[in-house]
Amino acid sequence: MKALVYHGPGAKSLDDVVKPAIIEPGDALVRVTHTTICGTDLHILKGDVASCPPGRTLGHEGVGVVEQIGSAVSSFRIGDHVLISCITSCGRCENCRRGMYSHCASGGWMLGNTINGTQAEYVRIPHADTSLYPIPVGADEEALVMLSDILPTGFECGVLNGKIAPGGTVAIVGAGPIGLACLLTAQFYSPGAIYMVDIDDKRLAVARRFGATHLINSATTDAAAAIAELTGGRGVDTSVEAVGIPATFELCQDLVAAGGVIANIGVHGVKAELHLERLWSHNITITTRLVDTVSTAMLLKTVAAAKLDPAPLITHRFSLAEALTAYDVFARAGETGALKIIITP
Ligand SMILES: [Zn+2]
Ligand SMILES: [Zn+2]
Repeated sequence: MKALVYHGPGAKSLDDVVKPAIIEPGDALVRVTHTTICGTDLHILKGDVASCPPGRTLGHEGVGVVEQIGSAVSSFRIGDHVLISCITSCGRCENCRRGMYSHCASGGWMLGNTINGTQAEYVRIPHADTSLYPIPVGADEEALVMLSDILPTGFECGVLNGKIAPGGTVAIVGAGPIGLACLLTAQFYSPGAIYMVDIDDKRLAVARRFGATHLINSATTDAAAAIAELTGGRGVDTSVEAVGIPATFELCQDLVAAGGVIANIGVHGVKAELHLERLWSHNITITTRLVDTVSTAMLLKTVAAAKLDPAPLITHRFSLAEALTAYDVFARAGETGALKIIITP
């Protein structure tokens, strides 16, 4: 079968690889019908993710059809349409029992990292009973790919950790797919204002359509001064870091009000400064999290009830045969306007 394979920093190709097979009794083999590329895949290709070795099939998001199940799988049958969670969880270990699936003793972020991933015709899913979700009949399956990773990530790491509340003020720094996923799900809680900060006017225009109340281009405007003015010098109740570089984490420290929360979502590759000399008396909370995907079932219900529409996050579509082009378009998002790219084997 065809798969997009990582071959070390800067190197990837579409290869013919052996079709995966059931290894453990809890495994399912899923025929991938739609997958996508994540910013994290670009981190891997830069050589930033030491746990992902050369030879690995990339991808941790997707939907598909169950092709085969191990003897212990009881919740899914052959032919079921399923959403693949980016987090694999056993459901039984100590961390799973407290809802921290991202740190499952025999799971966590495995797909496209420590085991072969979803940018392929088929993928093996360990702990299938607790790592797959049934797709309701009639659902827009392509749009549900947004629920593998980015929507639970934006919601759990940004909205829930950020304690976004009715009438509150929110700044989201970074209007990429994750920042936009946070913007969409923040509105479940009716915040009073959502300030979207980015350096790309095209992405800010998307944020406006998705419900941002104020747009701030931090390349041309002093974002901290602008938000100070908009909030009467108070700052925001929640500042969400959705980029993953020191400058944006430091900006979040400038934006947060006394008693507020800095909710980090970004994947950071280098150390960032923490201004405790200013923040020690500010009563703030800083949160970090790897998505646990505990909200996936809830998010599926909000999509079914038309309270959340993930489809507008999709900007481009390619076949698996065109995967290298898809990566190029995604990596040049500033020029191409790419948000999420659907790849269909
Ligand atoms: Zn991802
Ligand atoms: Zn576990």
